[in-house]
Amino acid sequence: MAMAVVEEVECAPGQRRRLRLSNPATLEPLGELEIDGAEQVRAAVDRARKAQAEWSAAGFAERAHYLERAARLLVARADEFVARIAAETGKPRSEALATEILTGCDSLQFYAKRARHILADRTIPLHLLKTKKLRISHRPLGVVGIITPWNFPFILALNPTVQALIAGNTVVLKPSEVTPGSGQLVADLWAAAGLPAGVFNLVQGDGETGAALLEAGADKISFTGSVATGRRVAEICGRQLVPCTLELGGKDPMIVCADADLERAARGAVYGAFSNAGQVCTSTERVYVVDAVADEFTRRVVEHTSELRQGAEGEFDVGPMIRPEQLAIVEEHVRDAVAKGARVLAGGRRNPAHKGLFYEPTVLDDVTHDMKIMREETFGPVLPIMRVRDEDEAIAYANDSPYGLNANVWTRDRRRGTQLAKAIESGCAVVNDCMITYGVTEAPFGGVKQSGIGRVNGEQGLLGMCHTKSIVIDRVGGRSELLWFPHSARKASWVKRALRLIWGTSLGRWLA
Ligand code: NAD
Repeated sequence: MAMAVVEEVECAPGQRRRLRLSNPATLEPLGELEIDGAEQVRAAVDRARKAQAEWSAAGFAERAHYLERAARLLVARADEFVARIAAETGKPRSEALATEILTGCDSLQFYAKRARHILADRTIPLHLLKTKKLRISHRPLGVVGIITPWNFPFILALNPTVQALIAGNTVVLKPSEVTPGSGQLVADLWAAAGLPAGVFNLVQGDGETGAALLEAGADKISFTGSVATGRRVAEICGRQLVPCTLELGGKDPMIVCADADLERAARGAVYGAFSNAGQVCTSTERVYVVDAVADEFTRRVVEHTSELRQGAEGEFDVGPMIRPEQLAIVEEHVRDAVAKGARVLAGGRRNPAHKGLFYEPTVLDDVTHDMKIMREETFGPVLPIMRVRDEDEAIAYANDSPYGLNANVWTRDRRRGTQLAKAIESGCAVVNDCMITYGVTEAPFGGVKQSGIGRVNGEQGLLGMCHTKSIVIDRVGGRSELLWFPHSARKASWVKRALRLIWGTSLGRWLA
């Protein structure tokens, strides 16, 4: 049986490449995608470049107006958008509604309302040079190239686009070749909102199209995807001195303390591991549970895992994996773990009841840190549980990873939970919940170590779509300044006197 969800179509020489796509849950054909090459990508960047000055000059109120209109349209067309996302990914409709549409509306409205304030010019009083004033202004970067993955194919394409646009940039988006229909939805939404021509541009295709976008002269690249591709993106941006934001993979740890609410923690673990069939960059991929509560916690996790409904139609909790290559990685990680002594407490195989790319929600016990399942990103529905002596050991294991995206800690002592969250080497962390960070629009989101560079969302995400310009303004005038030519011994003695007065006396240091 052909399992490929994306297959290359044979083309005559000189023709554009095409990919054949099929539904991951049913394996039924979804259609073909024509790949945009370097020429189409350059044309899109040119269109964006031409539109940028006018878009930037339009000001916040006008740009916010388009965002608000898009939010209203998204509410009105939510069912249609959900159906199209679900057909392409196989994810449950209610999950798509909450994680793709609701989050999309929030992003649109949040930035429409607040960007003007966040990016407003500020005048800063100077501590020393009282004859000057400083104005800080946030200027758009120009054209932003956005490259996105398939796991949340609508929101991960829409959200950085919203942040780039409201800041006055124009955009060229290249969505994943696995989910081009969801990328098209973003284009449909902006078209319906009446965005001026050239402000938002869509190019479709795979790595070839993405690589062309990196070379097409954009002023920033916002990339979300795997570590391997992210590294290539960084290299190419580095060569061109183009800034990039890299939102990459994760291996999020969960730490369960002895005083945790075990029922909430167990339900949180099941949600964190199996939501979107484990294909979330912030999936819970490793659990460290303190020995004293490990049996009870594990029992509850297995019980709640057994309640999950896997399916393709109607109401269900866990859909298919989207790519056969990813399913193969999941199988390999479970095989490796079992060969090294892990016990399968639930799942551990493809789901024989379904035709598509279904892997059963899987719980593993007796795992160790030499197993792939604890070291490499699995990106599938597997929850490995490791028992630890105490919280210190949990932190040491949590930090023994090249990844550092999100993390979650479960304890009734919220202060202690916050301390533990700080001790984990990760860009974000959650106490007594999981994965929610990306949905908290104010929260700067991103990773440390190999999980990425830069932040999306919140004030910091918006600032990342601008360059910060310092404008120093002279307030006094006059013929000359103390430090201008000519240099002289007399001037040097004034400077020395100032040195002694300001940094050589306690009053001076207090005032400085
Ligand atoms: P991927 O790296 O294979 O592809 C991501 C995007 O890059 C796609 O659009 C792809 O076509 C494009 N691409 C591929 N080769 C390219 C090249 N040479 N130059 C430019 N673009 C190229 O990742 P994926 O499999 O689509 O997504 C899954 C990965 O994304 C996982 O590792 C997951 O953890 C990560 N992810 C991270 C976040 C985050 O916010 N940190 C969010 C979602 C997913």
